[in-house]
Amino acid sequence: MTVRGKEVIHKSKSDMKYYSTNKQAPDATLEEAVVKGLASDKGLFMPYEIKQLPASFFDEIDQLSFQEIAFRVADAFFGEDIPSDTLKQIVYDTLNFDTPVVRVKDNIYSLELFHGPTLAFKDVGARFMARLLGYFIRKEGKKQVNVLVATSGDTGSAVANGFLGVEGIHVYVLYPKGKVSEIQEKQFTTLGKNITALEVDGTFDDCQALVKSAFMDKELNAHMQLTSANSINVARFLPQAFYYFYAYAQLKKMGKADKVVVCVPSGNFGNITAGLFGKRMGLPVSRFIAANNRNDIFYQYLKTGEYNPRPSIATIANAMDVGDPSNFARILDLYKNSHEAISAEISGATYTDDQIRETVKRAFDETGYLLDPHGACGYRALEEGLNPDETGVFLETAHPAKFLQTVEGIIGKEMRIPEKLQAFMRGTKQSVPMSKDFASFKAYLMKR
Ligand SMILES: *Cc1c(COP(=O)(O)O)cnc(C)c1O
Repeated sequence: MTVRGKEVIHKSKSDMKYYSTNKQAPDATLEEAVVKGLASDKGLFMPYEIKQLPASFFDEIDQLSFQEIAFRVADAFFGEDIPSDTLKQIVYDTLNFDTPVVRVKDNIYSLELFHGPTLAFKDVGARFMARLLGYFIRKEGKKQVNVLVATSGDTGSAVANGFLGVEGIHVYVLYPKGKVSEIQEKQFTTLGKNITALEVDGTFDDCQALVKSAFMDKELNAHMQLTSANSINVARFLPQAFYYFYAYAQLKKMGKADKVVVCVPSGNFGNITAGLFGKRMGLPVSRFIAANNRNDIFYQYLKTGEYNPRPSIATIANAMDVGDPSNFARILDLYKNSHEAISAEISGATYTDDQIRETVKRAFDETGYLLDPHGACGYRALEEGLNPDETGVFLETAHPAKFLQTVEGIIGKEMRIPEKLQAFMRGTKQSVPMSKDFASFKAYLMKR
C-alpha cells in the first residue's frame, strides 16, 4: 500500500486464538481467556499454536539472562496480543528474583523456585497474571474484576501477594480450614486491602468446586465480573515455562545439558504442563517425571491407562493434595488423548509421607541440602529413576521453611527462617468463615 509516495507496512498482528479442551465453547482471544479463566463448557483454554523457537536461540541460550530468555518465550505465547514493550515490562517486573540451578549430588540438580516474595514457584505465574490483567483493565477501562482463587496452600499466597494493591482487582482466596500450614495461612490472611481470605469448612477439592460453580452461575456473573487465578488460567500457567528454559540454559553453561530429565512435584499439573509446552517449543529436554505424593491419580493413569479421580488425601506435601488434577485435560489434549504418547514422554512416581520424611532426612544428612516435602518427592524420583548418562533436575517448588514444623520435626534441628517469611508471621490473621455449600458462598458474594 502506498500513501503519498511513502510505503506503509501494514503489520496487522493477528491475535492468537484459544480453544477449549472440551471443544464445545467458542474460541477466545487472550484477553477473554484470561478474564474468563475457564471456558463456558468447563474446558481449559489452549492456544491454537505452540510456536517453535529457532535453533539459534538454543545455541546462545546460555549467554542470555533469565529475563531475556523469558521475554523470548513470552513473545512466542503473547507477542501477537500485547505490544512488545508492554510485554517486556510485564516479564521483567514479574521476574525480579532468580531461579538458580544448584547441584545437590551426582547428576541431580535442584531448580530453586523459592526466591520470590512468597517463596514458592507460584510467584512467577501469579505475578505475571496480575500484571497482565492490570494491563487489560487499564486498556479497556473496565470496572472492578474479582479474582476467585482456591488454594491448597501456596497458590493463595502467591496470588494474593501478586495482586496486592493492583487497582481494579479484588481477590477472594478460598482455603480449606485447618489444612494449610500456619505460615501459608499468614501469607494470605494478613494482607488486607484488596485481598479477602475465605476459610472454608472442607477440603481443597471443595474450595475448587465452589470456585467452579461460581463461574457457572448466571446470576452471580451478572452481578459481578469474576475471573480465576488458579493454574487453569493461561496467564498463570504459560509463564511457568520460563524457568524450564532458564534451567536448561544454566545446565548448558555447566556442560550438563545433553540428556536432561526434568522432574516436577505435581498436584494440579499446571507446572509440569508448562514444561511440556516448553518441549513442544523445542526445549531439548529428553523426558519428564511427574512426582506425586499419595494422591497418585496420574501415576495410576500411566500404569493402567485409566483416569480415576478420587477425593484427595491430606499429606505432608499438602500443595500436591489434589484428587482430580485440573490440568490433566491439557495434557490429554496436548497428546491427542494417546496414553502411549503421554507415557513415552512422562513417567511417574508416588511417595508416602514416611518416604517423604525419610528422603528429607537422608538428603540432608548425606548432602547438607534441605528439601521441602514437595521437592523431596522430585529428588527421590530422580534418585530412583535416572539413568547414569542423564542429568536430572527437580523443581524445588517451595522453601522448606514454609513447612517449618514438618521439616524441623524431620531433621531434628531448628532451621533459619528467611526474613520474608518472618515478616508475614508478624501479621494478624483476618478471614471470613465459609461453609462448603455453594448457596451460602453465592449469598455472600451477592452482597458484595
Ligand atoms: C502448587 C504446588 C505444587 C503443585 O504444582 P501443580 O502446578 O499444581 O502441579 C507443588 N509444590 C508446591 C510447593 C506447590 O505450591
